[in-house]
Amino acid sequence: MTVTMTCAHCGAHPEERAPAMAILMWTSSKQDGRESKFCPNCSRENLRSIESGIDEQYW
Ligand SMILES: [Zn+2]
Repeated sequence: MTVTMTCAHCGAHPEERAPAMAILMWTSSKQDGRESKFCPNCSRENLRSIESGIDEQYW
């Protein structure tokens, strides 16, 4: 399985051959009909913003 993801916030990619658990730590949110992915670091830091639906530009 090939997973292609880019963090919408910092542009990070998951490690190649990242374990499934690491992939699961990535989160996604829908903004303006587009799905954005966020790496574990950004997810943790911006969890509240993501969940409350605040637009990314206000982070
Ligand atoms: Zn990130």
